[in-house]
Amino acid sequence: MKNIVLQNYTGDNCKQLLELTKLIEVSSVIVFSCIIDYECELNYITDNVSQFGYSAEDFLLHKVHYKSIIHDADIDFFSKSLEDGLRSNKRKFSLLHRIITADGTIRWLDVKFLVERDEQGCAKSLYGAINDITEIVEKENKAKLLAQAVEQSDSLVFITDCNGIISYVNDSVIENSGYSREELIGSKTSIFKSGKHNKEFYYNLWRTILSGQNYNNIIINKKKNGKLYYVDTSITPIDDAYTKSKNFVVRATNVTRQMKLEKKLKNLATTDSLTQIYNRYKINTEIELHIARSKRSNTTFSLLMFDIDHFKNINDSYGHYVGDLVLKDLTRLIQTSIRQVDSFGRWGGEEFMLILDDTKKEEALNVAQKIRALVEQTAMSGHYNITVSIGVGEYKIAERKSALLERVDQALYEAKEGGRNQVVYR
Ligand code: GH3
Ligand code: MG
Ligand code: MG
Repeated sequence: MKNIVLQNYTGDNCKQLLELTKLIEVSSVIVFSCIIDYECELNYITDNVSQFGYSAEDFLLHKVHYKSIIHDADIDFFSKSLEDGLRSNKRKFSLLHRIITADGTIRWLDVKFLVERDEQGCAKSLYGAINDITEIVEKENKAKLLAQAVEQSDSLVFITDCNGIISYVNDSVIENSGYSREELIGSKTSIFKSGKHNKEFYYNLWRTILSGQNYNNIIINKKKNGKLYYVDTSITPIDDAYTKSKNFVVRATNVTRQMKLEKKLKNLATTDSLTQIYNRYKINTEIELHIARSKRSNTTFSLLMFDIDHFKNINDSYGHYVGDLVLKDLTRLIQTSIRQVDSFGRWGGEEFMLILDDTKKEEALNVAQKIRALVEQTAMSGHYNITVSIGVGEYKIAERKSALLERVDQALYEAKEGGRNQVVYR
């Protein structure tokens, strides 16, 4: 091959050229030249063109034409750009196009041309350097795709440095927070702070990510308009090899709707819909919790079960609606006379249960008498007088829940049998 190319060179020139050629061969850049005639055939190309599966001889002996290996989609563009470049008065121009190598793979080539022209400006010779930039193009394409995916993602994505300064936000962050991109970039992440988490919460978050670990949690953030929202957040520390610093990629999903629904469902599962106090299920759970705590701390608690006397008469005389009003009013009345630590719930119908935390028999009986008297003295909804019968029991350590409930139920039964509007201890 070199003979074909170097036939016109002699002596020192030739030596220098041979050395230059050697240098080119060890690089990945392919160098070529061609005489401009009708076909524009190559008259020189370095051996390293073999990286595409064809030898230099294949091209120089015209077994393979360069244009024949150009990707179909790029051939028209290549021909036109080459023609334009040669026709223009430019000395240099470049082209980016794909080729298909001998084994069928696609490579992206960056070709830089140098044109030698005669006095009239007509192209005489063409020299060029071919750079295979497939890896760069693929990386760029991948980065573009990723950027597009992040940009258009429904998830909130932002990037911060190790001081919490925001350097990137996607559109979802802007839509969700109400801040503009300009307001967010350069700001600290504390711009989202809701005040709903304590110092320790943020300290833990930063300690985790600064130690290089991922952080996952549901965080309450604040929008520009002051509204709070829940975000299921995952923070990944990323080492930036270029700046040798740590960045954090924050991906979050707004889960406010789910959290509200969950809260509502939880509430529905534990609250009585008419009176808005605990339902039977929740009171049962509370009794179990109190039993477990008693066993642990060797303290006790008392249980009051009470039932409205002759409640049927209220319904029969004034209607079901008034019956409901009475139930709600009675609930409010009891709520105002108990402590925060006590648990109050509707056991069913016109039966209620009150758990007195850390309370023994004597105090429980006092409370029961106080409630009985209060109900007797208060006209419900300002009109309807009722009384209640109350069964009282103190939890005996290691006693089963069913045994306690039976005792209290029996006490209530005895209070009814004894003439109602009274308190019985069992
Ligand atoms: P006792 O003194 O023996 O407890 O008599 P009572 O009439 O209160 O007892 P009984 O069990 O005979 O009747 C209870 C009544 O409570 C019957 C039922 O219609 C009424 N009731 C139960 N739940 C509700 C409710 O949610 N709203 C209304 N308005 N009434 C209810
Ligand atoms: Mg009753
Ligand atoms: Mg009853």
